[in-house]
Amino acid sequence: MTITLKNKKEISKKLKERAIFEGFSISGIASIPGSQRLKLRTNALERWLSNNYHSEMNWMEAEKRKSIESLLKGAKSVLSVGFTYINSQNNNNDKSFKIGKFGQGEDYHKVIYKKLKNIGKWINLEIPDCKWKICVDTSPLLEKAWAEESGLGWIGKNSNLISKKNGSWFTLGFLILTKDLVPDEPHQSLCGKCDKCIEHCPTKAIVEPFVIQSDLCIAYHTIENREKNIPKKIEKNLNGWVAGCDICQDVCPWNKTVPCNNTVETTPKEWIKNLNFESLNWDDKTWEENLKGTTLKRIKPWMWRRNIKANINNK
Ligand code: SF4
Ligand code: SF4
Repeated sequence: MTITLKNKKEISKKLKERAIFEGFSISGIASIPGSQRLKLRTNALERWLSNNYHSEMNWMEAEKRKSIESLLKGAKSVLSVGFTYINSQNNNNDKSFKIGKFGQGEDYHKVIYKKLKNIGKWINLEIPDCKWKICVDTSPLLEKAWAEESGLGWIGKNSNLISKKNGSWFTLGFLILTKDLVPDEPHQSLCGKCDKCIEHCPTKAIVEPFVIQSDLCIAYHTIENREKNIPKKIEKNLNGWVAGCDICQDVCPWNKTVPCNNTVETTPKEWIKNLNFESLNWDDKTWEENLKGTTLKRIKPWMWRRNIKANINNK
């Protein structure tokens, strides 16, 4: 099926509407290979890697991350979507132990994948000769840069993607397509003179605007660090964080009045709503049962114990 200019516009609009219908809060389209800005973002990734700011996250070095075309032969466009994970029942971290809001609901990889697959099925009916490929987090794609290119928002100084309407409490998903579609305008940065995230980061991990040095970041250490101990300089700044850290998002003015997504998928598990030392004093089996179906299972039971202990050491 050849898409004419007229129905190209229509199908692009319908595709973005379909994404909202599936439960995403934002959607946009970019053309491949994208604008000059993408090249700048790729260069920035190179600099970040060459400074070893990714620490032990070696998968970030994947060459394919820099080339979207290598993920699907004949790729012409990408649909970018944002899934809002904040829920009005979130444990908002006023307790002794804190968990990042991104991890309080169901595993967002699975949620996003399922929704994108439904969109793919819709494409099979609407544009039968269009091939598509789903990318969610684990795929080697320069996610935030493509979301920015698709008009979803801008990469903030805290390195999160920020949308004017939805703040930064969302995770990204992508559908790469072999059809030419009508692209959206890449988003401009609206951080302006604000520096709140940089000022409030307790470990000074935002070493310059847009650049996070992972081995200074609480989120990195509580989720990714596989070492037996958390470094002392991080430990003394944990202040209750046992999984992730939301500070640089909590202080962002664009997150002040963001609509919640109160669905089953984002509703926190009961144990997360009631965090306290007793409730977390579990054996491996109980941890595994409780972490089932969440993104937090990336943090192994021994790491939870290490993170909790590190917090107790600094009470
Ligand atoms: S997640 Fe926390 S530690 Fe990491 S950059 Fe943001 S405020 Fe700093
Ligand atoms: S806190 Fe300010 S500087 Fe940081 S991401 Fe938000 S708007 Fe940008």
